[in-house]
Amino acid sequence: MQPICLSFDNGPEPEATPLVLEVLARRGLSASFFVIGEKLRDPARRALAERALAEGHRIGNHTLTHGAPLGLRPPVEAVQEIAAAEALLGHLNRERLFRPNGGGGALGPHLLRRSALAHLMAERYTVVLWNAVPRDWDDPEGWPARALALCRAATSPVLLVLHDLRADAMRHLDRVLGALAEEGAAFTPEFPDSCLALREGRLLCDPGNISRKDDAP
Ligand SMILES: [Zn+2]
Repeated sequence: MQPICLSFDNGPEPEATPLVLEVLARRGLSASFFVIGEKLRDPARRALAERALAEGHRIGNHTLTHGAPLGLRPPVEAVQEIAAAEALLGHLNRERLFRPNGGGGALGPHLLRRSALAHLMAERYTVVLWNAVPRDWDDPEGWPARALALCRAATSPVLLVLHDLRADAMRHLDRVLGALAEEGAAFTPEFPDSCLALREGRLLCDPGNISRKDDAP
């Protein structure tokens, strides 16, 4: 089985995030949490992000509002979604990580536009995409089987996207990780290169895949 890197998006949430943190701690795993910036205005949610960082996980920027994907927004608004979230994250985003929201988890040119990409390059972000989306958010009972199938079928290192959003979905997390471990999966906190669009501001992908040509920076 290919190595698996775990990421949890769209939190922090008071019920799901502690559950995820407890499973990861019990299994001695570290993961990345891509948080929605505006959720950090709530002190209880902010405390969960602080806890995740203190427990050895990475925290990244997942836009301010997680509204329409940035490639579909006016240029100034797209940059603002990144910058305003970053202001709320502050020291939590220690490695300047950013993950665009995909709209149904799909990769494509809707993720970023040139203005956003230029901002991310200038601010030396590492932009983390994904290659396995078992859709836990819309199928809390069915996602475990899909996650296992995606990991088993992978022919390159897996960057799995889950969500610390719904406790009813995340109550299956321990069982899924246990099944993968039994099948010999190695978990790594390192992102596969093939899932990075930028590393510290340096372009690692064809920008035509993620930005729109009609958008001047
Ligand atoms: Zn998301």
